[in-house]
Amino acid sequence: MARPPSVDQLARSLDHHDLPHPILVEIARKAIAEDRLDDVEGIARERKRAMLTPVVNATGVLLHTNLGRAPLEVDVASGYSNLELSLDTGQRGSRQRAVGDLLASACGAEAAMVVNNCAGAVLLTLAALGHGRGVAVSRGEMVEIGGGFRIPDVMNQSGARLVEVGTTNRSRLADYRRAVDQDEDLAMVLKVHRSNYQIVGFTEEVSVQALASLDVPTVADIGSGLLDAACPWLDGPPPKWLADEPAAKQTLQQGADLVLFSGDKLFGGPQAGIIAGRRDLVEQCGRHPLARALRPGDLVLQVLQTVTLAYLDRRGTDIPLWRMVARTEADLQARADAICERLQDSNAEVRSTPTEAVPGGGTLPTVTFPSHGLEIPGDISEQLRAGPRPIIGRVEQGRTILDLRTVDPEDDDTVVDVLAGLARDSDHGDRGRNGSR
Ligand SMILES: *Cc1c(COP(=O)(O)O)cnc(C)c1O
Repeated sequence: MARPPSVDQLARSLDHHDLPHPILVEIARKAIAEDRLDDVEGIARERKRAMLTPVVNATGVLLHTNLGRAPLEVDVASGYSNLELSLDTGQRGSRQRAVGDLLASACGAEAAMVVNNCAGAVLLTLAALGHGRGVAVSRGEMVEIGGGFRIPDVMNQSGARLVEVGTTNRSRLADYRRAVDQDEDLAMVLKVHRSNYQIVGFTEEVSVQALASLDVPTVADIGSGLLDAACPWLDGPPPKWLADEPAAKQTLQQGADLVLFSGDKLFGGPQAGIIAGRRDLVEQCGRHPLARALRPGDLVLQVLQTVTLAYLDRRGTDIPLWRMVARTEADLQARADAICERLQDSNAEVRSTPTEAVPGGGTLPTVTFPSHGLEIPGDISEQLRAGPRPIIGRVEQGRTILDLRTVDPEDDDTVVDVLAGLARDSDHGDRGRNGSR
Protein backbone atom coordinates (compact mmCIF):
# COMPACT_ATOMS: atom_id res chain seq x y z
CA MET A 1 0.00 0.00 0.00
CA ALA A 2 1.35 3.43 -0.97
CA ARG A 3 1.84 5.84 1.90
CA PRO A 4 -0.85 8.50 1.94
CA PRO A 5 0.45 12.03 1.31
CA SER A 6 0.92 14.28 4.30
CA VAL A 7 -2.25 16.16 5.17
CA ASP A 8 -0.23 19.23 5.96
CA GLN A 9 1.63 19.17 2.65
CA LEU A 10 -1.58 18.75 0.73
CA ALA A 11 -3.23 21.58 2.69
CA ARG A 12 -0.30 23.87 1.91
CA SER A 13 -0.60 23.09 -1.79
CA LEU A 14 -4.09 24.67 -1.60
CA ASP A 15 -2.89 28.00 -0.23
CA HIS A 16 -3.89 29.85 -3.41
CA HIS A 17 -7.58 29.27 -2.57
CA ASP A 18 -7.38 31.95 0.07
CA LEU A 19 -9.11 29.88 2.75
CA PRO A 20 -8.02 29.64 6.42
CA HIS A 21 -5.50 26.88 7.09
CA PRO A 22 -7.81 24.75 9.30
CA ILE A 23 -10.32 24.64 6.43
CA LEU A 24 -7.58 23.62 3.96
CA VAL A 25 -6.64 20.82 6.38
CA GLU A 26 -10.26 19.62 6.39
CA ILE A 27 -10.27 19.63 2.60
CA ALA A 28 -7.01 17.68 2.47
CA ARG A 29 -8.36 15.11 4.96
CA LYS A 30 -11.53 14.72 2.94
CA ALA A 31 -9.57 14.19 -0.30
CA ILE A 32 -7.45 11.50 1.37
CA ALA A 33 -10.36 9.81 3.15
CA GLU A 34 -12.49 9.69 0.01
CA ASP A 35 -9.57 8.75 -2.21
CA ARG A 36 -10.08 11.89 -4.33
CA LEU A 37 -6.51 13.19 -4.44
CA ASP A 38 -6.87 14.02 -8.14
CA ASP A 39 -9.85 16.18 -7.32
CA VAL A 40 -8.52 18.08 -4.31
CA GLU A 41 -8.70 21.36 -6.24
CA GLY A 42 -12.33 20.64 -7.03
CA ILE A 43 -13.10 19.96 -3.37
CA ALA A 44 -11.48 23.27 -2.40
CA ARG A 45 -13.49 25.12 -5.07
CA GLU A 46 -16.72 23.52 -3.83
CA ARG A 47 -15.89 24.56 -0.30
CA LYS A 48 -15.17 28.12 -1.32
CA ARG A 49 -18.36 28.34 -3.36
CA ALA A 50 -20.40 27.23 -0.34
CA MET A 51 -19.46 30.49 1.39
CA LEU A 52 -21.62 33.62 1.23
CA THR A 53 -20.74 35.87 -1.68
CA PRO A 54 -22.43 38.70 -3.60
CA VAL A 55 -24.25 37.53 -6.74
CA VAL A 56 -25.91 39.31 -9.64
CA ASN A 57 -29.66 38.63 -9.58
CA ALA A 58 -30.68 38.39 -13.24
CA THR A 59 -33.73 36.22 -12.52
CA GLY A 60 -36.24 39.06 -12.80
CA VAL A 61 -37.60 38.01 -9.40
CA LEU A 62 -37.44 41.17 -7.31
CA LEU A 63 -37.65 39.44 -3.93
CA HIS A 64 -35.86 36.14 -4.42
CA THR A 65 -35.79 34.28 -1.13
CA ASN A 66 -32.77 32.21 -2.26
CA LEU A 67 -30.90 35.44 -2.98
CA GLY A 68 -31.71 37.20 0.29
CA ARG A 69 -35.00 38.85 -0.80
CA ALA A 70 -34.78 42.67 -0.91
CA PRO A 71 -31.37 43.99 -1.97
CA LEU A 72 -29.77 46.31 0.57
CA GLU A 73 -27.52 49.26 0.14
CA VAL A 74 -26.25 50.46 3.44
CA ASP A 75 -23.34 51.74 5.42
CA VAL A 76 -23.57 50.48 8.96
CA ALA A 77 -21.50 51.87 11.79
CA SER A 78 -19.09 49.13 12.72
CA GLY A 79 -18.22 50.32 16.22
CA TYR A 80 -20.43 50.71 19.27
CA SER A 81 -23.88 52.23 19.11
CA ASN A 82 -26.42 53.48 21.65
CA LEU A 83 -28.43 50.29 21.05
CA GLU A 84 -29.81 50.10 24.59
CA LEU A 85 -28.60 53.34 26.10
CA SER A 86 -30.57 56.53 26.47
CA LEU A 87 -28.19 59.36 25.54
CA ASP A 88 -30.51 61.70 27.43
CA THR A 89 -30.35 60.07 30.82
CA GLY A 90 -27.32 57.82 30.51
CA GLN A 91 -29.55 55.02 31.73
CA ARG A 92 -30.43 51.77 30.06
CA GLY A 93 -32.92 52.28 27.22
CA SER A 94 -34.94 50.03 24.95
CA ARG A 95 -33.50 48.70 21.71
CA GLN A 96 -37.04 48.81 20.32
CA ARG A 97 -37.55 52.51 20.93
CA ALA A 98 -35.64 54.32 18.18
CA VAL A 99 -36.64 52.28 15.18
CA GLY A 100 -40.02 51.33 16.64
CA ASP A 101 -41.01 54.99 16.93
CA LEU A 102 -39.90 55.73 13.35
CA LEU A 103 -41.77 52.70 12.04
CA ALA A 104 -44.88 53.75 13.96
CA SER A 105 -44.76 57.19 12.32
CA ALA A 106 -44.19 55.66 8.90
CA CYS A 107 -47.26 53.44 9.08
CA GLY A 108 -49.46 55.67 11.20
CA ALA A 109 -49.47 53.46 14.29
CA GLU A 110 -49.33 54.33 17.98
CA ALA A 111 -46.34 52.05 18.48
CA ALA A 112 -44.25 49.44 16.72
CA MET A 113 -41.59 46.88 17.53
CA VAL A 114 -39.20 44.68 15.58
CA VAL A 115 -38.47 40.96 15.80
CA ASN A 116 -36.40 38.52 13.76
CA ASN A 117 -38.92 38.01 10.92
CA CYS A 118 -42.64 38.03 10.22
CA ALA A 119 -42.97 34.37 11.22
CA GLY A 120 -41.55 35.45 14.60
CA ALA A 121 -43.97 38.39 14.71
CA VAL A 122 -46.93 36.01 14.25
CA LEU A 123 -45.61 33.57 16.85
CA LEU A 124 -44.94 36.30 19.40
CA THR A 125 -48.30 38.01 18.88
CA LEU A 126 -50.19 34.74 19.27
CA ALA A 127 -48.19 33.78 22.35
CA ALA A 128 -48.41 37.20 24.01
CA LEU A 129 -52.08 37.90 23.30
CA GLY A 130 -53.56 34.46 22.76
CA HIS A 131 -51.82 31.92 25.00
CA GLY A 132 -54.40 29.55 26.45
CA ARG A 133 -57.18 31.43 24.65
CA GLY A 134 -58.97 31.12 21.33
CA VAL A 135 -57.84 32.79 18.08
CA ALA A 136 -60.33 32.89 15.20
CA VAL A 137 -58.96 32.30 11.70
CA SER A 138 -60.90 31.81 8.48
CA ARG A 139 -60.57 28.31 6.99
CA GLY A 140 -59.57 30.05 3.77
CA GLU A 141 -56.56 31.62 5.45
CA MET A 142 -54.88 28.66 7.15
CA VAL A 143 -51.88 29.11 4.94
CA GLU A 144 -48.49 27.58 4.56
CA ILE A 145 -46.08 30.39 3.72
CA GLY A 146 -43.10 28.19 2.84
CA GLY A 147 -40.20 26.88 4.83
CA GLY A 148 -42.65 24.93 7.00
CA PHE A 149 -44.48 27.99 8.33
CA ARG A 150 -48.08 26.79 8.72
CA ILE A 151 -50.66 28.82 10.62
CA PRO A 152 -52.19 25.86 12.54
CA ASP A 153 -48.70 24.67 13.60
CA VAL A 154 -47.57 28.13 14.69
CA MET A 155 -50.82 28.48 16.61
CA ASN A 156 -50.04 25.24 18.41
CA GLN A 157 -46.51 26.36 19.27
CA SER A 158 -47.79 29.65 20.66
CA GLY A 159 -50.18 27.94 23.06
CA ALA A 160 -53.18 29.62 21.48
CA ARG A 161 -56.21 27.58 20.48
CA LEU A 162 -57.22 27.71 16.83
CA VAL A 163 -60.89 28.54 16.32
CA GLU A 164 -61.77 27.76 12.71
CA VAL A 165 -64.20 30.08 10.99
CA GLY A 166 -66.23 29.68 7.78
CA THR A 167 -65.19 27.39 4.93
CA THR A 168 -62.24 27.13 2.58
CA ASN A 169 -63.79 29.38 -0.05
CA ARG A 170 -66.30 31.47 1.90
CA SER A 171 -66.19 33.15 5.29
CA ARG A 172 -68.72 35.78 6.38
CA LEU A 173 -68.87 38.27 9.21
CA ALA A 174 -71.67 36.18 10.76
CA ASP A 175 -69.23 33.24 10.97
CA TYR A 176 -66.77 35.36 12.95
CA ARG A 177 -69.54 36.77 15.08
CA ARG A 178 -70.63 33.27 15.99
CA ALA A 179 -67.06 32.45 17.03
CA VAL A 180 -66.95 35.54 19.24
CA ASP A 181 -70.32 34.70 20.80
CA GLN A 182 -69.79 30.98 21.26
CA ASP A 183 -66.16 30.78 22.32
CA GLU A 184 -65.78 31.24 26.04
CA ASP A 185 -62.49 33.10 25.68
CA LEU A 186 -61.62 34.47 22.25
CA ALA A 187 -58.46 36.60 22.33
CA MET A 188 -58.54 37.96 18.79
CA VAL A 189 -59.35 37.49 15.15
CA LEU A 190 -56.28 36.80 13.01
CA LYS A 191 -56.54 37.75 9.36
CA VAL A 192 -53.78 36.20 7.28
CA HIS A 193 -52.92 37.52 3.84
CA ARG A 194 -52.99 34.74 1.25
CA SER A 195 -49.62 35.80 0.01
CA ASN A 196 -48.67 32.97 -2.27
CA TYR A 197 -51.94 31.54 -3.56
CA GLN A 198 -55.41 32.61 -4.59
CA ILE A 199 -58.89 31.27 -4.20
CA VAL A 200 -61.02 32.06 -7.24
CA GLY A 201 -64.62 31.38 -8.18
CA PHE A 202 -67.39 31.18 -5.56
CA THR A 203 -65.60 33.04 -2.81
CA GLU A 204 -66.24 35.47 0.00
CA GLU A 205 -64.03 36.93 2.67
CA VAL A 206 -64.40 39.55 5.35
CA SER A 207 -62.59 42.88 5.19
CA VAL A 208 -60.51 44.23 8.06
CA GLN A 209 -63.03 47.07 8.28
CA ALA A 210 -65.86 44.63 8.97
CA LEU A 211 -63.78 42.54 11.38
CA ALA A 212 -62.97 45.69 13.33
CA SER A 213 -66.65 45.91 14.31
CA LEU A 214 -66.26 42.77 16.45
CA ASP A 215 -65.63 42.94 20.18
CA VAL A 216 -62.15 41.40 20.02
CA PRO A 217 -58.91 42.82 18.59
CA THR A 218 -58.20 42.27 14.89
CA VAL A 219 -54.63 41.30 14.05
CA ALA A 220 -53.69 41.35 10.36
CA ASP A 221 -50.68 39.38 9.13
CA ILE A 222 -50.15 41.19 5.81
CA GLY A 223 -46.78 39.54 5.19
CA SER A 224 -45.60 41.55 2.21
CA GLY A 225 -44.77 44.76 4.05
CA LEU A 226 -46.13 47.33 1.63
CA LEU A 227 -46.06 50.40 3.86
CA ASP A 228 -48.60 52.69 2.20
CA ALA A 229 -50.86 51.87 -0.76
CA ALA A 230 -50.38 55.42 -2.11
CA CYS A 231 -46.58 54.88 -2.40
CA PRO A 232 -45.83 58.57 -1.70
CA TRP A 233 -42.10 57.78 -1.95
CA LEU A 234 -42.44 57.21 -5.71
CA ASP A 235 -42.47 60.01 -8.27
CA GLY A 236 -45.44 58.62 -10.16
CA PRO A 237 -48.63 56.84 -9.12
CA PRO A 238 -48.42 53.45 -7.36
CA PRO A 239 -47.69 50.60 -9.78
CA LYS A 240 -50.91 48.94 -10.96
CA TRP A 241 -49.72 45.49 -9.96
CA LEU A 242 -49.79 46.55 -6.31
CA ALA A 243 -53.50 47.40 -6.44
CA ASP A 244 -54.73 44.37 -4.46
CA GLU A 245 -51.85 44.19 -2.02
CA PRO A 246 -52.75 45.11 1.58
CA ALA A 247 -50.67 47.98 2.97
CA ALA A 248 -49.77 48.53 6.62
CA LYS A 249 -51.04 52.10 6.85
CA GLN A 250 -54.42 51.43 5.22
CA THR A 251 -54.93 48.19 7.15
CA LEU A 252 -54.51 50.13 10.39
CA GLN A 253 -56.81 52.90 9.13
CA GLN A 254 -59.42 50.27 8.37
CA GLY A 255 -59.39 49.36 12.02
CA ALA A 256 -56.82 46.60 12.53
CA ASP A 257 -55.47 46.71 16.07
CA LEU A 258 -52.14 45.28 14.95
CA VAL A 259 -50.48 44.68 11.60
CA LEU A 260 -47.60 42.24 11.18
CA PHE A 261 -45.26 42.34 8.21
CA SER A 262 -41.85 41.32 6.89
CA GLY A 263 -38.92 43.72 6.70
CA ASP A 264 -37.41 42.15 3.59
CA LYS A 265 -40.36 41.84 1.23
CA LEU A 266 -42.07 44.92 -0.24
CA PHE A 267 -40.71 46.99 2.65
CA GLY A 268 -37.35 46.60 0.92
CA GLY A 269 -35.29 46.29 4.10
CA PRO A 270 -33.37 43.64 6.03
CA GLN A 271 -34.84 40.40 7.36
CA ALA A 272 -37.13 41.48 10.17
CA GLY A 273 -40.69 41.19 11.41
CA ILE A 274 -42.61 44.31 12.34
CA ILE A 275 -45.50 44.50 14.79
CA ALA A 276 -47.31 47.85 14.59
CA GLY A 277 -50.56 49.21 15.98
CA ARG A 278 -52.17 49.82 19.38
CA ARG A 279 -49.61 50.75 22.01
CA ASP A 280 -51.00 48.51 24.77
CA LEU A 281 -50.90 45.47 22.49
CA VAL A 282 -47.41 46.21 21.16
CA GLU A 283 -46.21 46.61 24.76
CA GLN A 284 -47.86 43.34 25.74
CA CYS A 285 -45.89 41.64 22.93
CA GLY A 286 -42.70 43.36 24.07
CA ARG A 287 -43.07 42.07 27.64
CA HIS A 288 -43.46 38.41 26.62
CA PRO A 289 -40.33 36.25 27.18
CA LEU A 290 -40.33 35.24 23.51
CA ALA A 291 -39.64 38.88 22.60
CA ARG A 292 -36.17 38.45 24.08
CA ALA A 293 -35.60 35.28 22.05
CA LEU A 294 -36.75 36.93 18.83
CA ARG A 295 -35.12 40.33 19.27
CA PRO A 296 -33.21 41.83 16.34
CA GLY A 297 -29.52 42.74 16.45
CA ASP A 298 -27.83 46.07 16.10
CA LEU A 299 -27.01 45.57 12.40
CA VAL A 300 -30.61 44.85 11.45
CA LEU A 301 -31.95 47.80 13.43
CA GLN A 302 -29.46 50.18 11.85
CA VAL A 303 -30.43 49.10 8.35
CA LEU A 304 -34.12 49.21 9.19
CA GLN A 305 -33.68 52.74 10.52
CA THR A 306 -31.97 53.84 7.28
CA VAL A 307 -34.79 52.40 5.16
CA THR A 308 -37.53 53.82 7.40
CA LEU A 309 -35.96 57.30 7.25
CA ALA A 310 -35.92 57.06 3.45
CA TYR A 311 -39.67 56.29 3.50
CA LEU A 312 -40.40 59.19 5.86
CA ASP A 313 -38.37 61.51 3.62
CA ARG A 314 -40.11 60.10 0.52
CA ARG A 315 -36.76 59.13 -0.96
CA GLY A 316 -37.96 56.00 -2.79
CA THR A 317 -34.92 56.04 -5.04
CA ASP A 318 -32.73 55.44 -1.99
CA ILE A 319 -34.41 52.07 -1.53
CA PRO A 320 -32.98 49.62 -4.09
CA LEU A 321 -36.24 47.64 -4.34
CA TRP A 322 -38.25 50.70 -5.38
CA ARG A 323 -35.55 51.75 -7.84
CA MET A 324 -35.94 48.37 -9.54
CA VAL A 325 -39.72 48.75 -9.57
CA ALA A 326 -39.48 52.26 -11.07
CA ARG A 327 -37.19 51.32 -13.97
CA THR A 328 -38.95 51.84 -17.29
CA GLU A 329 -38.97 49.23 -20.04
CA ALA A 330 -37.33 51.76 -22.36
CA ASP A 331 -34.47 52.22 -19.92
CA LEU A 332 -34.06 48.46 -19.50
CA GLN A 333 -34.14 47.93 -23.27
CA ALA A 334 -31.50 50.62 -23.77
CA ARG A 335 -29.24 48.82 -21.28
CA ALA A 336 -29.83 45.46 -22.96
CA ASP A 337 -29.08 46.95 -26.40
CA ALA A 338 -25.91 48.57 -25.08
CA ILE A 339 -24.72 45.28 -23.58
CA CYS A 340 -25.35 43.48 -26.90
CA GLU A 341 -23.45 46.16 -28.76
CA ARG A 342 -20.48 45.90 -26.44
CA LEU A 343 -20.47 42.13 -27.03
CA GLN A 344 -20.60 42.40 -30.81
CA ASP A 345 -16.94 41.61 -31.37
CA SER A 346 -16.83 38.86 -28.78
CA ASN A 347 -18.71 36.16 -30.71
CA ALA A 348 -21.12 35.92 -27.79
CA GLU A 349 -24.52 34.84 -29.01
CA VAL A 350 -26.77 37.25 -27.18
CA ARG A 351 -29.95 39.11 -28.10
CA SER A 352 -31.92 41.89 -26.45
CA THR A 353 -35.39 40.56 -25.60
CA PRO A 354 -38.59 41.58 -23.78
CA THR A 355 -39.10 39.59 -20.58
CA GLU A 356 -41.51 39.37 -17.67
CA ALA A 357 -40.40 40.14 -14.12
CA VAL A 358 -42.25 39.03 -10.96
CA PRO A 359 -42.39 40.38 -7.39
CA GLY A 360 -41.47 37.03 -5.77
CA GLY A 361 -40.89 36.55 -2.06
CA GLY A 362 -44.12 34.60 -1.78
CA THR A 363 -46.15 37.67 -2.69
CA LEU A 364 -48.56 38.39 -5.54
CA PRO A 365 -48.48 34.92 -7.10
CA THR A 366 -50.22 35.88 -10.35
CA VAL A 367 -48.53 39.22 -11.01
CA THR A 368 -45.95 39.74 -13.74
CA PHE A 369 -44.81 43.02 -15.18
CA PRO A 370 -43.05 43.88 -18.41
CA SER A 371 -39.29 44.00 -18.33
CA HIS A 372 -36.36 43.64 -20.68
CA GLY A 373 -33.21 41.60 -20.74
CA LEU A 374 -30.88 39.33 -22.65
CA GLU A 375 -31.44 35.98 -24.29
CA ILE A 376 -28.66 33.45 -24.84
CA PRO A 377 -29.28 30.18 -26.69
CA GLY A 378 -28.90 27.03 -24.61
CA ASP A 379 -28.68 26.58 -20.87
CA ILE A 380 -25.55 28.37 -19.66
CA SER A 381 -26.80 28.84 -16.09
CA GLU A 382 -24.06 26.65 -14.64
CA GLN A 383 -21.28 28.57 -16.41
CA LEU A 384 -22.84 31.84 -15.25
CA ARG A 385 -22.72 30.65 -11.64
CA ALA A 386 -19.13 29.46 -11.91
CA GLY A 387 -17.23 32.76 -11.92
CA PRO A 388 -15.99 34.86 -9.03
CA ARG A 389 -19.08 37.09 -9.39
CA PRO A 390 -21.86 34.56 -10.01
CA ILE A 391 -24.75 35.64 -12.24
CA ILE A 392 -28.08 33.94 -11.52
CA GLY A 393 -30.40 33.85 -14.55
CA ARG A 394 -33.33 31.68 -15.51
CA VAL A 395 -33.74 29.06 -18.22
CA GLU A 396 -36.86 29.07 -20.37
CA GLN A 397 -37.54 26.80 -23.33
CA GLY A 398 -33.91 25.99 -23.85
CA ARG A 399 -32.72 29.59 -23.61
CA THR A 400 -30.98 31.42 -20.80
CA ILE A 401 -32.68 34.69 -19.87
CA LEU A 402 -30.96 37.48 -17.97
CA ASP A 403 -33.60 39.97 -16.82
CA LEU A 404 -32.07 43.41 -16.30
CA ARG A 405 -34.82 44.77 -14.02
CA THR A 406 -33.21 43.08 -11.02
CA VAL A 407 -29.65 43.83 -12.13
CA ASP A 408 -28.03 46.97 -10.72
CA PRO A 409 -26.83 49.07 -13.72
CA GLU A 410 -23.38 49.04 -12.12
CA ASP A 411 -23.34 45.28 -12.71
CA ASP A 412 -23.86 45.61 -16.47
CA ASP A 413 -20.06 45.60 -16.81
CA THR A 414 -19.93 42.28 -14.97
CA VAL A 415 -22.55 40.87 -17.34
CA VAL A 416 -20.52 42.00 -20.36
CA ASP A 417 -17.28 40.61 -18.94
CA VAL A 418 -18.76 37.25 -17.99
CA LEU A 419 -20.55 36.75 -21.32
CA ALA A 420 -17.44 37.80 -23.26
CA GLY A 421 -15.37 35.41 -21.17
CA LEU A 422 -17.75 32.50 -21.82
CA ALA A 423 -17.71 33.26 -25.56
CA ARG A 424 -13.90 33.20 -25.49
CA ASP A 425 -13.90 29.88 -23.63
CA SER A 426 -16.32 28.31 -26.08
CA ASP A 427 -14.28 29.62 -29.06
CA HIS A 428 -11.27 27.83 -27.64
CA GLY A 429 -13.14 24.78 -26.42
CA ASP A 430 -15.02 22.12 -28.33
CA ARG A 431 -18.31 23.99 -28.05
CA GLY A 432 -18.00 26.23 -31.08
CA ARG A 433 -20.12 29.23 -31.78
CA ASN A 434 -22.87 27.16 -33.40
CA GLY A 435 -22.43 24.17 -31.19
CA SER A 436 -24.20 25.91 -28.35
CA ARG A 437 -27.59 25.88 -30.01
C1 LIG B 1 -43.92 35.96 4.08
C2 LIG B 1 -45.00 35.89 5.04
C3 LIG B 1 -44.74 35.50 6.37
C4 LIG B 1 -43.37 35.12 6.82
O1 LIG B 1 -42.53 36.22 6.77
P1 LIG B 1 -40.96 36.05 7.11
O2 LIG B 1 -40.49 37.45 7.28
O3 LIG B 1 -40.35 35.35 5.94
O4 LIG B 1 -40.85 35.25 8.34
C5 LIG B 1 -45.80 35.45 7.24
N1 LIG B 1 -47.06 35.76 6.84
C6 LIG B 1 -47.34 36.15 5.58
C7 LIG B 1 -48.76 36.46 5.22
C8 LIG B 1 -46.32 36.23 4.64
O5 LIG B 1 -46.59 36.60 3.40
